[in-house]
Amino acid sequence: YQRFSEKYNIVLNLQQQRAVQAVSGANLMIAVPGSGKTTVMVARMGYMIYCKGIAPENILAITYTKSATNDIKQRFAQKFDKNIADRLNIRTINSLCEQIITRYVQKYNRPNRYKLLNENEQCAIIKSIYTSITGDKFPHEADIIEAQTKISYIKNMMLTTPELREEYLPEDSIYENFYNKYEDALKSNQRMDYDDQLRFAKIFLEKKPDLLCEFQDKYQYICVDEAQDTSKIQHEIVRLLASKRNNVFMVGDEDQSIYRFRAAYPQALLSFADIYINPYVLFLETNYRSTKQIVSAAQSFISHNINRHSEKYMRSSRGDGKPIKRINVMKKHEQYSTVAEASMQDHGQMAILYRNNANAIPLMDLFLRKNIPFQRLKDAGENFFTCKVVQDIVYFLRFAINPNDADAFKQIYYKCGYGFNQRAANWSCTKSLQKGISISDELINQLSKWRSLEQKALDFKEKMKRIAASAPQDAIDMICNYWYRDYAREKELDIGKCDILYSLAVQEKTITGFLEHLELLPKLIENYHCSAENPVILSTIHSAKGLEFDIVYIVDAYDGSLPHSDRETAKEQERIDNYEEERRLFYVAITRAKNELYLLSVNEYRTAFINEIVPEAHTNKDNEVNVVFKDKHTLLSDTLKPIIVSGMINNVTETTSIPAQPYKRSISEYISETNDQPNPVSEEKTTMSKQQKYEIGLSDVSDKFTQ
Ligand code: ATP
Ligand code: MG
Repeated sequence: YQRFSEKYNIVLNLQQQRAVQAVSGANLMIAVPGSGKTTVMVARMGYMIYCKGIAPENILAITYTKSATNDIKQRFAQKFDKNIADRLNIRTINSLCEQIITRYVQKYNRPNRYKLLNENEQCAIIKSIYTSITGDKFPHEADIIEAQTKISYIKNMMLTTPELREEYLPEDSIYENFYNKYEDALKSNQRMDYDDQLRFAKIFLEKKPDLLCEFQDKYQYICVDEAQDTSKIQHEIVRLLASKRNNVFMVGDEDQSIYRFRAAYPQALLSFADIYINPYVLFLETNYRSTKQIVSAAQSFISHNINRHSEKYMRSSRGDGKPIKRINVMKKHEQYSTVAEASMQDHGQMAILYRNNANAIPLMDLFLRKNIPFQRLKDAGENFFTCKVVQDIVYFLRFAINPNDADAFKQIYYKCGYGFNQRAANWSCTKSLQKGISISDELINQLSKWRSLEQKALDFKEKMKRIAASAPQDAIDMICNYWYRDYAREKELDIGKCDILYSLAVQEKTITGFLEHLELLPKLIENYHCSAENPVILSTIHSAKGLEFDIVYIVDAYDGSLPHSDRETAKEQERIDNYEEERRLFYVAITRAKNELYLLSVNEYRTAFINEIVPEAHTNKDNEVNVVFKDKHTLLSDTLKPIIVSGMINNVTETTSIPAQPYKRSISEYISETNDQPNPVSEEKTTMSKQQKYEIGLSDVSDKFTQ
């Protein structure tokens, strides 16, 4: 190891070195963000190849997202060798399963009935089943998403029919029926969904011992990064593959579990010891990534979650760094222009993180306009331009500027809440064309027999006229205020999409110009290729998991977006679980930053999460705020000088900060208070308890405290 680490310039602490050398057997590493989990995984693969002579082809590294697979590959290529990096198997679990299915088809000469269903097809199938069961012809978008999530959950949790009944009955009795119908539809279309990929791969491995054996011999060493987001069925696939040799290295952090909606199963980390033979558990708590300010804020932020498997104490190895800054803007769209402005200044590697894929659209639009090189990371498809809300608003705008646009009129008249009937609407389109008058005028004629309806038609015409004479962003606001917000609320559509349209519209002078730009923008985005050296990274928080950046800006972190608001039908427990997941998501976001962290807040909204990190009251005249820490784990950096504790923990020098005041307690009290909850997994397996470790550490430096 010594020669290896010198040759490749690998600097790791002792616990990390142990992990690198734990090549065979079952190893679990539980660790805080930025503590070197992925670094260790990469170094370990190097060690296996260069010191143990293991072929790169025999190593399988699984991680959760495509961007993370690229990251691991890149890290390996940088540290060791690009050609070897190409020979390693670094995959997402779905890509592994795809490989298993393809091999099954080929090996047993089976017809390939395993074509993947795309998202639109899946939605269409779910919609039609929903309609057939409930009789509701226009199901809400949210109902479809909920059904989709439940199907995915059932498959990932491997629920049997009785379990399914227990889980969803009696309130949601439609799901058993729903699930069966959905499965039939897939079968008859010879399709499988994303989760079937896992299911089929698992079935084939179980059914065909020689197929399993082939993959076991191929993937002799398995490592799993981000294991907290691995679902039950995914864990089962890993277990099957590892069952012959018991060589598995699993790395995770339950506090960063952010895929509950895809049935992430972080509890599996706790049962690791029951599943694998002779398990060894390692534990890392030093964050090497971020400055102390960021680490302290993150540590305090996550400690408010109740549902944690273990209380971890995260310490930073770095200096204090710059304070976390809050930047307040008046309107949502100003967030985007503010960060675009910031990206034009000289900077290190910078990333802008947001909750939803759609939030990237106004950012990309600005970056294209200002010629700022950017790279967007995304795992999911983009459907902003084709989604219902956006299309509806476009029809409204089209009709406002062209009162004879019959296509547009037919899409909007029933969304205004006036109660115009379909016959009158169609008739108005035909007649107005013959008479050479506007559709609204003909509608007024048609309805003149009924006073109140005539009034409504007049109101409609008048408002459309006002909209047509407005700037595009105001026009969008008016459409929402007059009619569309109510319609969207009733149909549970995501009205937030209108804010994105608004942000795009402020860049244009006329409605016509805006509509033209909206046609063009998806193509501009699609054809954009960045060749610049250091582009600004645009990413959802989900896709940024595992990555790190010098400077991080977080946008759209206001209540309703992050934390997200629940559906009105959500149950109490669901609300609590959702909120904790939102907290973990924000925790993942803030722990991406190495040196500087900026939180954008919008004045008209409450920002619960940002307020916790940087309280509102401390905003100065430049709308920037410095961090004021609140709890005992953190230090009041401006007023108190921290005492640095250095000690030997497992023979490694670890450094941590402890506030000198106002906690006038003996150090042993402090330590026992912060560390009295041993990690349930690591406690038994590591040789020393954390308490013991600290005691050893402190005896060496106790002099410092008496000064
Ligand atoms: P995440 O939980 O976000 O996935 P992680 O635990 O995988 O984080 P890494 O990305 O591996 O953490 O490491 C974070 C940073 O710390 C990297 O820049 C890495 O180079 C650095 N690092 C890791 N270990 C050490 C060490 N022993 N000494 C100095 N720097 C280190
Ligand atoms: Mg990582």
